[in-house]
Amino acid sequence: MRPIPSVLGLRCLLCGRHFETDEVDYVCPDHYGAATLSVVYDYQYVAGSTSPDRLASDPDRSIWRYRPLLPVHPDADPPPLQVGGTPLLPAKVLEEEMGVRLWVKDEGRQPTASLKDRASALAVLKARERGAGIITAASTGNAGAALAALCAAAGIPSVIFVPATAPQPKVAQLLSFGATVLLVRGSYHQAFDLCLWASGEFGWYNRNTGYNPYMTEGKKTVSYEIWEQLGYRVPDVVVVSVGDGCIIGGVHKGFEDLRQLGWTDRVPRLIGAQAAGSAYLAQAWRRREDLTTKPPIRAETVADSISADLPRDRFKAMAAVTETGGAFVEVSDAQILNAIVTLGQRLGVFAEPAAAASLAGLIEARRQGLVERGERVVVISTGNGLKDIDAAMRAVDESGEGPLSVDPEIEALAEGLAGRFLGP
Ligand SMILES: *Cc1c(COP(=O)(O)O)cnc(C)c1O
Ligand SMILES: [Zn+2]
Repeated sequence: MRPIPSVLGLRCLLCGRHFETDEVDYVCPDHYGAATLSVVYDYQYVAGSTSPDRLASDPDRSIWRYRPLLPVHPDADPPPLQVGGTPLLPAKVLEEEMGVRLWVKDEGRQPTASLKDRASALAVLKARERGAGIITAASTGNAGAALAALCAAAGIPSVIFVPATAPQPKVAQLLSFGATVLLVRGSYHQAFDLCLWASGEFGWYNRNTGYNPYMTEGKKTVSYEIWEQLGYRVPDVVVVSVGDGCIIGGVHKGFEDLRQLGWTDRVPRLIGAQAAGSAYLAQAWRRREDLTTKPPIRAETVADSISADLPRDRFKAMAAVTETGGAFVEVSDAQILNAIVTLGQRLGVFAEPAAAASLAGLIEARRQGLVERGERVVVISTGNGLKDIDAAMRAVDESGEGPLSVDPEIEALAEGLAGRFLGP
């Protein structure tokens, strides 16, 4: 295979073993069952190919503006959907309530409405490089939707395994994008294992999170964007919701790349927000448990995208928190649903439960004193509220913000509004 000029190989984070990129596709042979491989770059080569100045004058807003920092050939032809370039919104109204400087990175504005597009775009190029005819993934819904769309745009068939309980809008996306959809009567954990077996058996390219090492590389581009959007500066803290742990690991890698290049001298503290009912990593962090032996939990939360019995990217996720001096926090389903309403009412951002979990995580982190008054904080809203309408309706119902029903008459309207705007 043609070498990629910016990539030196892959390194196992657990045993330190080095691999050439054509030596392994997915996992370290000694550490099967978790994602432990990290792509190693030739930063000198990267520094010769791009710079903050060059980025500033590049009109391409997609993730491909960072091509020298991605494990792809300089001439690789990405699918035509625009992945990346999502807004970083100053959350002025929320800042006062929260007591911090606050920005929300709205990943609900990606082509398939979640951050997962960043990784799936890369999966398509890696699959093509490998000459794979079919790409597969197991997903709670968003990674699958992202892969299905990017495969559709590239003309490659996709096979997606999701738990049969996945929210309908996500399943509708999968089907609309023409994926072969397998509704697994079981958990995400089981769908994941089934997908692994199928890809091995049928020779399909596998995009699974926390298995395919390149997914971290796609997700890390969110950190480059945050740094650029803050004027080539990093914030003090980034809050990320955590299921498998791939996003937070990617966010870490992105900031580390910038540090290695000398484009920042520090890395933000990373705070992982987990649902209390799916808190494998938060528990392990608090109790200092060994990730190589801690058994799976039984995850149960309204935030389906961060429901994970055994976080597949647990090693990278734990490193992201410990190496940056960050923390994990747990948030209840009620706190998550509340945060959906807060993001909507104070910023106009519509978030699915897993996306709102990061704002809930910031509120919790402030309560625990993990984030100080006046610090500069970025909360990543990882997916759009349209992804899970049932949860959104539950959130507004529980906040008492339901609609008013009126008869189509002026008197009825005046009466209906009396309590709200017009006085008693
Ligand atoms: C996948 C996902 C997450 C969690 O990412 P992990 O890499 O599994 O930790 C959070 N929010 C949304 C919307 C997601 O789709
Ligand atoms: Zn290893």
